[in-house]
Amino acid sequence: MTVAAAEHLRRLPKVELHCHIEGASRASTIADLARRNGVEFPVDDPADLYKFTSLNQFLDIYDVICASLQSADDFHRITYECLEDAVSAGVRYREMFFSPGFVIRLGVPVSTVWEGVSAAVVDARADLDVGCRMILDFDKPSGPGHALEMAEFAAAQDRDLLIGMGADSVERGIDHRAFAEAYAAAGRAGLKRTMHAGEDGPAENIAIGVREFGCDRIDHGFRLLDDPALTDEIIDRQIPLTVCPTSNVMIANVVPDVASHPIARQRELGVLATVNSDDPGMMRFDVADEYVAVAEAFDYTLEEMEAIALDGIEASWAPDDEKAALRRRFESEFADLRSEYGLPARA
Ligand SMILES: [Zn+2]
Repeated sequence: MTVAAAEHLRRLPKVELHCHIEGASRASTIADLARRNGVEFPVDDPADLYKFTSLNQFLDIYDVICASLQSADDFHRITYECLEDAVSAGVRYREMFFSPGFVIRLGVPVSTVWEGVSAAVVDARADLDVGCRMILDFDKPSGPGHALEMAEFAAAQDRDLLIGMGADSVERGIDHRAFAEAYAAAGRAGLKRTMHAGEDGPAENIAIGVREFGCDRIDHGFRLLDDPALTDEIIDRQIPLTVCPTSNVMIANVVPDVASHPIARQRELGVLATVNSDDPGMMRFDVADEYVAVAEAFDYTLEEMEAIALDGIEASWAPDDEKAALRRRFESEFADLRSEYGLPARA
């Protein structure tokens, strides 16, 4: 790909639906917070913090991040900064995860986390010209009691700021059906529902999410195509997947490279599979890099990449009027970028 084409994809307006504030935090900020909060920092140079070659190392770094986050101000800072970084990757609207399970274990109450996160979303909306709503992810290994507690907390918050509930962390060794009560509570409260599923676990976990928990979306869904009947159902019901191809290569290690990722086949079949970064800080790879990687791996045209950006709007949980305004904005920005790069108008 030419430098200009990659720059064009970086500037393309985007929606991102799968990104964790903890994994999107800047290494330099975590170094600063670790120092202030008296947390032992494992490397001398912050630039070395996010160097990992295995899932275990990734999780060790994740622990350092979570230990460094203690006050509402700390959460405000990482949330606001990661939205600044999102804007530089072309993100105009993001639905973003926060996972209080990790810091709750360290004694920080969820209310403290939310105080900082929600204030940062309000500030970023006002300052940065970026739309954002949050999704509270419960930590699956913390069990159904934690999940229900998180659903009840989420239910009581402002729906315009906290729009949904999700679930993350490992799938192996987890009894997913144990979370039925938490998802039912989230549904009753009018929260949208999603779940990390079929990432390092089987397609059956995706089926549990969409058939038993009423999930409106599935995060990853890497293994979806293993189950053709479920694939048909996901296509018929247009249940979106928030796919993170490079994360699946780097973190879950379920595929050797992006070119081998099933997202192209999923999209070809009619799955509403969107492109997202997952943990852009830790991976040092943001959603703009992901657009470039996907376009290169599958030889996608600019038209196809613009379609992926528009699918992000479709798959989002923004209200209909906001979606319509985003579509108009994207079409207009697509046209401006094409003219700036000397390309013909969109067909
Ligand atoms: Zn994720």
